[in-house]
Amino acid sequence: MDDSSWGMETRLIHAGEPKPRIHGSAIVPVFQGNVYEVSDEMAYGDIPYPRLSNLPNHQVLHGKLAAISGAEAALVTSSGMSAISTVMLALLEKGNHVLAQSTLYGGTHGLAQKHLPSLGIETSLVDLDSPKEWKEALRPETTMFYVETLTNPLIHVGDLEAMVAFCRQHDLLAVIDNTFGSPVNFRPAEWGFDIEVHSASKYLNGHSDLIAGAIMGKRGLLEKVKHGLDYFGGSLDPHACFMLHRGLRTLSLRVKTQNENALHLATFLEQHSQVERVHYPGLKSSPSYERARKLLGGGGGVLSFELHGGRQAANQLLDHLDLFVNGPSLGGVESLVTRPAATSHAGMSPEERAKAGISDGLIRVAVGIECATDLIRDLERGLDALTD
Ligand SMILES: *Cc1c(COP(=O)(O)O)cnc(C)c1O
Repeated sequence: MDDSSWGMETRLIHAGEPKPRIHGSAIVPVFQGNVYEVSDEMAYGDIPYPRLSNLPNHQVLHGKLAAISGAEAALVTSSGMSAISTVMLALLEKGNHVLAQSTLYGGTHGLAQKHLPSLGIETSLVDLDSPKEWKEALRPETTMFYVETLTNPLIHVGDLEAMVAFCRQHDLLAVIDNTFGSPVNFRPAEWGFDIEVHSASKYLNGHSDLIAGAIMGKRGLLEKVKHGLDYFGGSLDPHACFMLHRGLRTLSLRVKTQNENALHLATFLEQHSQVERVHYPGLKSSPSYERARKLLGGGGGVLSFELHGGRQAANQLLDHLDLFVNGPSLGGVESLVTRPAATSHAGMSPEERAKAGISDGLIRVAVGIECATDLIRDLERGLDALTD
């Protein structure tokens, strides 16, 4: 009964749901078992088995995720990194070369730099705003271009349209990590991307209580990725599927509130005398503003800012906040703050961080769904208490 005219909110609730409902249940029950009766004519892939991602708990998510992203097919995996590594291992082979943006998520960076080379797969890191660099890095054996919707922690939108055009021109797979965007703010399939990956541990689940991943994309490619997933084993446990299904249904409500809250906070921070700079694509002062307006449904729930007082002031502020959890993740209903130089980007050398524009005083905020007025009051109290 899926209807392509449905809006995002209707798809989140109704797309992919089993018809008739299982035992009349309004929600899909958890199929916790790992043994099911089989018949003689079943192919290996049709045998119901959690690792083969084919129980009703997987199927409902596959249908729903494909519907909300506008993609032909979808898969869930045991983590975001499982989604990323499965896509790479299933779609790349020895001798292939990958272009990837230089500001990759740490785990992806490590996979591309430390593990794939030993399998004969090399990656060149390029500036996502410099088509000239892409051209220079391109090799006859380049088969994939891998990017992220919003860079972390400076929350920049790269030249995604030019990147897709470059992929079409040079016959490359266009792959994007859309974790920070979420399908509410960005739908890569509509802009020509072949594959989209997510850490569903973040916005898709949205409650900071699950590790999961998702892959959406073209059917033929997803079939290949599914074969890989069956063998690599990074399938999502049925109970975790149930949790993700429960969280996913409120995705739009959460992300829209997070877009609004983040814009309120960014606007407040930008005019505060202790703040040197705010990075948020929803601000007119952002170099990403025009691109974000064209490509994204909202600026997203993550922003970052720098204080005049640098690292010392940043730590002082983090200690003073009541409503923000001092933690490095994102996508949950509660607001988080972190100092990337000490957490997500601690693995980089100070020189590498400086080159990437990540100062020691940079604070990243992942906004939740609390009342924006309360969040701003908490920040204001902390900022006003800063001693110079
Ligand atoms: C968290 C994250 C990942 C990794 O996801 P896990 O679920 O922790 O494996 C990948 N990409 C981005 C952009 C992330 O934020």
